[in-house]
Amino acid sequence: MTDVTHDRIPLAALEHGTPFADRHVGPAPAELAHMLDVIGVGSLEELGQSAVPEGIRERDLHLALPEPATEAQALAELRELAGRCRPHAEMIGLGYYGTVTPPVILRNVLESPAWYTAYTPYQPEISQGRLEALLNFQTMVADLTGVPVANASMLDEATAAAEGMTLVRRAGRSKSPRFVVDADTMPQTLEVLRTRAEPLGIEVVVADLSEGASGLPEGEFFGALLAYPGASGALRDHEAVISEVHERGAMAVVSADLLALTLLRAPGEMGADVVVGTTQRFGVPMGFGGPHAGYMAVRKGIERQLPGRLVGVSVDSDGNLAYRLALQTREQHIRREKATSNICTAQVLLAVVASMYAVYHGPAGLKAIATRAHRMASVLAERLRRGGVEVVHGEFFDTVVARVPGKADDVVSTARREGVNLRRVDGDHVGVSCDETTTRARLAAVWKAFGLPEQPDVDELDAETPDALPTSLLRTSEYLTHPVFHTHRSETSLLRYLRELSDKDVALDRSMIPLGSCTMKLNATAEMESITWPEFSGLHPFAPAQDAEGLLRIVSDLEGWLAEITGYDAVSLQPNAGSQGEFAGLLAIRAYHHSRGEAERDVCLIPASAHGTNAASAIMAGLRVVVVRCDDQGNIEMDHLREVVEEHKDDLAAIMITYPSTHGVYEDTVQEVCGLVHDAGGQVYVDGANLNALIGLARMGKFGSDVSHLNLHKTFCIPHGGGGPGVGPIGVRAHLAPFLPNHPLQPAAGPSTGVGPISAAPWGSASILPISWAYVRMMGSDGLRRATLTAVAAANYVARRLDEYFPVLYTGSGGFVAHECILDLRPITKSSGITVDDVAKRLADYGLHAPTMSFPVAGTLMVEPTESENLAELDRFCEAMIAIRAEIDKVAAGQWPADDNPLVNAPHTAASLVGEWNHAYGRDVAAYPLGTRVAKVWPPVRRIDGARGDRNLVCSCPPLSAYEG
Ligand SMILES: *Cc1c(COP(=O)(O)O)cnc(C)c1O
Repeated sequence: MTDVTHDRIPLAALEHGTPFADRHVGPAPAELAHMLDVIGVGSLEELGQSAVPEGIRERDLHLALPEPATEAQALAELRELAGRCRPHAEMIGLGYYGTVTPPVILRNVLESPAWYTAYTPYQPEISQGRLEALLNFQTMVADLTGVPVANASMLDEATAAAEGMTLVRRAGRSKSPRFVVDADTMPQTLEVLRTRAEPLGIEVVVADLSEGASGLPEGEFFGALLAYPGASGALRDHEAVISEVHERGAMAVVSADLLALTLLRAPGEMGADVVVGTTQRFGVPMGFGGPHAGYMAVRKGIERQLPGRLVGVSVDSDGNLAYRLALQTREQHIRREKATSNICTAQVLLAVVASMYAVYHGPAGLKAIATRAHRMASVLAERLRRGGVEVVHGEFFDTVVARVPGKADDVVSTARREGVNLRRVDGDHVGVSCDETTTRARLAAVWKAFGLPEQPDVDELDAETPDALPTSLLRTSEYLTHPVFHTHRSETSLLRYLRELSDKDVALDRSMIPLGSCTMKLNATAEMESITWPEFSGLHPFAPAQDAEGLLRIVSDLEGWLAEITGYDAVSLQPNAGSQGEFAGLLAIRAYHHSRGEAERDVCLIPASAHGTNAASAIMAGLRVVVVRCDDQGNIEMDHLREVVEEHKDDLAAIMITYPSTHGVYEDTVQEVCGLVHDAGGQVYVDGANLNALIGLARMGKFGSDVSHLNLHKTFCIPHGGGGPGVGPIGVRAHLAPFLPNHPLQPAAGPSTGVGPISAAPWGSASILPISWAYVRMMGSDGLRRATLTAVAAANYVARRLDEYFPVLYTGSGGFVAHECILDLRPITKSSGITVDDVAKRLADYGLHAPTMSFPVAGTLMVEPTESENLAELDRFCEAMIAIRAEIDKVAAGQWPADDNPLVNAPHTAASLVGEWNHAYGRDVAAYPLGTRVAKVWPPVRRIDGARGDRNLVCSCPPLSAYEG
């Protein structure tokens, strides 16, 4: 017998297998030891002590979180929680409908890391796949709405309507503060409009437009929102109202159901200036409220006012057609307080799903789905009428409202016993919405709930029932005529199209994405797995809470855990992006000042280095932005801060800072900053986008901040999806808790004293919360702290390795960076002519994604490696950067001409290597700079000309002939 007593691993540990934290954290212990060696510290703890200022560091902080679960345990718990969700057949409507995600799209987009781990396509040369998918999305929206320019997604329908309101205010000539809203607008949309309108001094006037233009109020207004169809399902021809709105010097926004538009006249044909809505029912599960892609499309002439991201067509340096984000200079980090909106992270992954749904079904398929919903509703209504139940509207698309005096509650609860959720409009009215999943059998259940148990011959009824669409509103124009909507009818064809597109892109499944500020860390499979389980994804956001017990448990767990992690007293998960969290947080501050009779406090201090969304959000919250200077170390200039605080001591509302700063350093003045602002009566907002450098070390709620947003799509492992979804919860200290967002249709979603809803759904993008839940559940306190310290170690390792090639711009005291580092290319650019752009594009030749370019400092690259990359990948990046530095030196030394070298010509496609080659460097240098044994990722296009595409804006699919470059 061999002696196995020494070094024996206890059975209890063996049974658990590898802890999840060991999978999440990239560097193995020996690798980490090497990294620490290069950094010059003895341990992670020592690094933490050296890098994080004493004053804010909480010694031996142990977060009160559950002991870490294994992947199998966490999944078992999620299964159990899913078992406590009981989605009914959801016929509530109000903007959320049953839909079938085609399995080929579910698995190969929604569940495919090639799509969900991608970043926002700022590097278009390695993002052509998702850019094409988004161009398809824009084309789909533009075609169906009948207005020519659509963007690549909004956060949801309600915020899209709010953005529509502010767009027409910006773009129009009217000086009136009044905005008219159709009384038949979805209740959540109306309330989000009110939340957004109030701080801007916009007066929302609700008008009954059921009789047409005569319902418009007297006097001036700058715009009007019309519902098509309305929340009640009623269908009206808005043409006369729109022309009256125009007549009176205002603009018209129409919120339209995209599926209905396959049958109905397009709002653009009625003269709409802006059309908004959601694409949820295009194959995106309801998910208890989200995420889904909202949309916005505008008529010609106001396209440059569009918020959000717009994909446009341009050409690459070989003259081939290529896509990129258009009008990128409008991006919020450039425009700051002049930005058109604060939207940054949008809903790209869901927009891709919706676009592929249209690609797969094509116009005829979509029309058949719409017709099914309409016919089901028509037959439903007919039987109700024949059974003596009054149907309120004779003309509708998919929603029927029945009048049942005093019996609405009875009908709704009987329906629930039949497994169906209906909408209780009020005590006398019940709404029923049909959709792609409605069956004849389900109609029978609904009739039963209305007290009509004896079942008719549905097919006979169908034959006898005419459509309920007004003839004047029938669609005659064509849509989705582009070949892409006609080519992929078979699953094989769509499968290959999806693969062809994703193969053009570099996502986390191919390379590290060292994007400073964006925290592109692992999105673990065990975290992702549950989000498409039908128990979570099939819930309607306005379904009774008991249907969602398991998911609501996830909500409350996560709220508690995030409060513990950040040191705040209360958390709201409603904001569906960081930008929305900023807005919600600033509204809380504003409401707090108002509640204390200090409404005059309206100045928001923002350091020059801040992310552009900060200033944009402050403007939306009705605050005046005053910029605080930063010194040449990148720190807030304390003397200047003292000066502006003194100057504004009577009207100071808040300061918005980022911690660690956007310069990637732990500023040791942060407590002093908080103290100064508090002493002057202001509140402190800490932008939590850099929380990955703090968890387990320090807590903003404890070092002086009053409110923060977190980005669950950065720090808490929700994937970026190519530019969304996101979740941007806010944490607040107790005095701000009464001013968190709430929701008109769900009292449990926030305090009754709250500032109103800032998202359409009570818990925002609820269906992706299991991702962050699973992350915290599997990491536990020690795992999270280890992740933070490893992220800091990785950034300092890269900084040490690259400093002699590309000087690291800022460090904190002790010479350490936080979780990211800025590489200064400006001197190199000056001496060689090689720019950050050239380096970024050249990295694509090396098979790597570029770091963040020119934020927060122009001419620099900001590198954030995260804790999830192992040493080999960190080294691959460093070696590529070092090799690029050597290439730059050759240009500077004149060995390669300034206008013909692998940097300025980067990236190199395979096609560019065949045929004649007359460059100053070889094909091998172009394509295999680190040798041919390296697995090659080929960029699909050469350098893209952005400016040219902006001058000549093309934002929908070009004809196939355009590709023959
Ligand atoms: C990402 C980021 C934001 C905005 O968050 P979104 O989710 O994209 O809206 C704000 N501030 C900083 C510092 C960020 O990095």
